[in-house]
Amino acid sequence: MANVKFSRQREAIREYLASTKSHPTADMVYNQIQSIYPNISLGTVYRNLNLLVEQGDAIKVSCGDGMEHFDSDTSEHYHFICKNCGDVIDLDMECINHINTIAGSAFDGKIDGSITYFYGICPSCLAETKE
Ligand SMILES: [Zn+2]
Ligand SMILES: [Zn+2]
Repeated sequence: MANVKFSRQREAIREYLASTKSHPTADMVYNQIQSIYPNISLGTVYRNLNLLVEQGDAIKVSCGDGMEHFDSDTSEHYHFICKNCGDVIDLDMECINHINTIAGSAFDGKIDGSITYFYGICPSCLAETKE
């Protein structure tokens, strides 16, 4: 029975992640899932999030804030992080994969990929400073 409960919690985590565009950290997911499963531990949430990543159902996003953000959108896309409020937002733009080719042209090793993120002030923070 323990296994059934375990995977139900994982489904709740998966559903929450699919329902949000906010790129939550494990802590944020934990706070949400606690309202459904009050006894769940942060460790369980973290394990399940990593399992979803291993299964290819989610990705971990590095945004330079030292936190791991989780995203159910596993397609290649770029992120923007707001220096003011810390919001992580998807950017609608073409993927610049040739950056790896450029980096590799003057490098004798083999480049497999790169992590690019953008930062600045998000639209809602920008609107506030203008007021
Ligand atoms: Zn902001
Ligand atoms: Zn994203």
